Order: sequence, then C-alpha cells, then structure tokens
Amino acid sequence: MHSMYKECNPTPALSPKMLLFNEDLAKEINLHYLIENSNERLDILSGNKLIKDSKPIAFAYSGHQFGHFNPNLGDGRALLLGEILDQQGKLKDIQLKGSGRTPFSRRGDGKSALGPVLREYLISESMHILGIPTTRSLAAINTGEKVHRDEETYGGIMTRVASSHIRIGSFEYAYKNKDISVVKDLADYSISRHYPDTASLDNPYLAFFAAVCNEQASLVASWMTVGFIHGVMNTDNMAVSGETIDYGPCAFMDAYGPATVFSSIDVNGRYAYGNQPAILTWNLTRLAETLIPLVNKDKDESIKLLTEVLQLIKPVYTNYWLSLMRSKIGLSKEEQNDIELITNLLEIMEEEKADFTNSFRLLSKALIGDTQSIRKLFNNSRRFDGWMMVWQERISQEGVAEEKIASSMDKVNPMYIPRNHKVEEALEASVFDNDMKPFNKLYSVLQNPYHEIVGLESFAEPAPESNIPYRTFCGT
Ligand code: AMP
Ligand code: MG
Repeated sequence: MHSMYKECNPTPALSPKMLLFNEDLAKEINLHYLIENSNERLDILSGNKLIKDSKPIAFAYSGHQFGHFNPNLGDGRALLLGEILDQQGKLKDIQLKGSGRTPFSRRGDGKSALGPVLREYLISESMHILGIPTTRSLAAINTGEKVHRDEETYGGIMTRVASSHIRIGSFEYAYKNKDISVVKDLADYSISRHYPDTASLDNPYLAFFAAVCNEQASLVASWMTVGFIHGVMNTDNMAVSGETIDYGPCAFMDAYGPATVFSSIDVNGRYAYGNQPAILTWNLTRLAETLIPLVNKDKDESIKLLTEVLQLIKPVYTNYWLSLMRSKIGLSKEEQNDIELITNLLEIMEEEKADFTNSFRLLSKALIGDTQSIRKLFNNSRRFDGWMMVWQERISQEGVAEEKIASSMDKVNPMYIPRNHKVEEALEASVFDNDMKPFNKLYSVLQNPYHEIVGLESFAEPAPESNIPYRTFCGT
C-alpha cells in the first residue's frame, strides 16, 4: 500500500493555544502522558513536536464529489500522527487536521479555520454521546495565525481520533490504475482491522463488502432518527468502518422536512436529509465497483454477487430505521402496521412544520398526562389528534405501564441536540470574542442530552423564525 500515502511532517504553529482537550478520550486511548504534561500536549497536538518514533503520513484517496469522480484527493490538510491501542485493545488513528500543507494539498493551504474546528469538536462529541458511531475529538487548538477564507479568520488544529481513515474513496484510489494488488492489499488490511470475522468466510471480499454495507446502513439509519444531515456524503467522506467522518457543513434539522438542506454548496439538494438513504446505496455501489476483480474471477459472476448484496441495503437500512423509530415512539413489540404509524406521524410533522427533536421528546409527556404540549407543537391539528388515538391504542397493546414506556422513550429521544443557532452563538463568541464560555456551556448541556434540566429550556428550542435560511459552510 506504499502508493497510497506519503510521509510528511506538520508545519509548526507560531503561537498555539490549547482551547479544548478531551481528557476522558485521552484516557480511553491510553494517552495518559498527554494528560499529565500540558506543555508536551500543546507541542504535539499543534504539530510543533513529533511523538517519539512517529512518522506522520498523509493518505491518498479519490472520491465522487457530488456525483463526479475526482481521482486526486487525499489528506490535503490532515496528517496521521500514528496509531494507538485503546483500553479495549482496539487500534485508533490519531490525526491532526489543519497542520499545514501535504503532498495532497493541491491549491489549498493545508490549514483549518478555527470555527469549523470547534464545530467538529462539538458535533462529533455530541454524536458520540447520542450513541452514533463517529470519529472523536481529542483537542482543538487556536494556532495564533490568520488563515484566508472568504474573509480573514483564525486558524485552528483539530486532533481527530478514528477507528481508521479508510474511506470508500480510498478504494476508488486503489482501483483507479487497475492495479488489483493495491485493492487487494487495502481490502485485506481493512478486513483485518475492521471485519476480521469475514477473513475466514468462503468469499471474504464479498463478506467484507456486506459488512461495510451493514455498518453504513446502520449508521445512516441512526443519523435519520436524530435528524442529522451530513451535508457532504461524497464517497471520500464515508468511512468503511461505519463511523461518521468529516464534519463539514453538517447540521441537525429543526422542523421536519425531507428536503431540508443546510450546506451552501449543495445547491441541488443531493445530500438533503431525505436523500441520505438513497445516497448510501449510491456510494456503496462505487465501493462495489472497486471489488469486482476480487470477488470472483468471472466478472459477470462477481457483478451478480455484489448486486445481490447491494439489493439488500434498502431492506437492511429499513430494518435498522424501523427498529430505532419504534423505540422512539415507545414500541418494543413488532406489529405489521408500525411502519404506517411512523410514516403517518412524519407526514403530519411535515405538514405542521413540527420540530423533529421536540416532537419525539414531547410524545412521552403525552403518555403521562400532558397532551397539551405536543398538541400545541402540532398546531392542535385534527389529523394529529387522530394519530394520537391510533398510537395510544397501539401503546396499550404493549402491556407495559405507560410511565415505564414514557421513561424508556426519554432514554432514546434526546432533549438537547446541537441546535444550529446555539452552535453559531457559541462559535461566534469563541472565535471573535475569545470567549469560550458559551461553547463550554453548550458542550456541557450536550453531554447530558436525555436528562431534562430546569433552566436549560432555551437549549431545547428551535431557532427563532428568520427570513434568512440557515446555511452551513464547508471550509475547515
Ligand atoms: P472535504 O470534503 O471538506 O473533506 O475535503 C475535500 C478535499 O479537499 C480533501 O482532499 C481535503 O484534504 C481537501 N482540502 C480541503 N480544504 C483544504 C485546505 N485548506 N488545504 C488543502 N486541502 C484541502
Ligand atoms: Mg473529506
């Protein structure tokens, strides 16, 4: 796999300042000496000093960006410092993002802007707490340097911890020169790192593909059930591990609407909320193409086998989604009509522009006597009242006390998510006023998403009505 990476050192930062350091994560990945030694921590995580024996590398990858193949992407502003075994004995990548130019920087400066660094830190850690597989954030640094985006802003370096940084785009890169040995090496490596059980099966490469499909289907289902919109589901931003990766213009939806898009660059809504499951299959089809030579010597047979797996993605995804959605509305038994019940609720939510997160959260209150709050959220709609009756009837078939159902619903329906206006408020203060207080407050609220706390009402409210639609930008 030597053709897939290049050695490269980080560019030292001039006057770095540690803004955030995730001690819990540092413990999980056995980086105790970074907890104990704050000077060393700053030096290493700002790229000013290398960990002993570290030979940082930047990966090459390709990718389909908004449907178009770009053969030459790669870590343009990221560097892998090394790997470490975590407390569970699992291998983790430690990567700096924003530490200067690499051989894959093309025309970019290899830097990150501070705002997006803090954004990724906040949202990835929030996803983790919500139980959604994700890369993690170990540190955020203000480099003390200016970077030039649309306007001049401050530079930042993020330390990302991931199960690996192997993307669908990595396979596309390995495959693009039709050198099958490179694809084989990458597949063998990915199997041993992420899906070792598939190695001993009849057709390991087909089993590997099925395993990636399964993990990514489960991932996208979990995104959908918290209203998360990734924003740039290009194939280079989808990890074969099944972790959420590359937090660019991602955001959580307020009012439910399948067409919701926040990213300024997604003008056609390719990566809109409701399109994410279809894009999942589209992306995995790109991965399948790279595996054709490995799955079977006979190309037609190979395509047939891979297609059979591809056809399973939709039903597998729907199963994950249905199971999560059932628990969101308090159901633990499975009934034929559940999918209709859930779809009807979503339809009414869309009709009434009801807030996605609060709709589910308030449902449990209705079970324990407060029906007014949720009815108000649905503008007292008659259709919603009708839905509630059918739902109550369905709940009664569960044979479990309603208080108990309500309490289990509150454990899966978050009260607090990273609401866009709150995230923006926190980032403004951090970047422009040098004031980390709003960020730290929001971060602490998001660390306890399921537990309602009096006094935190504003964190559970959607953004005030505005004429200007909320927009997110890529530019880390
Ligand atoms: P993204 O979709 O934002 O993850 O990035 C797409 C590609 O652009 C990746 O190959 C990045 O490494 C590269 N890239 C983005 N920003 C920069 C930058 N400031 N300098 C160099 N490369 C960059
Ligand atoms: Mg990317």
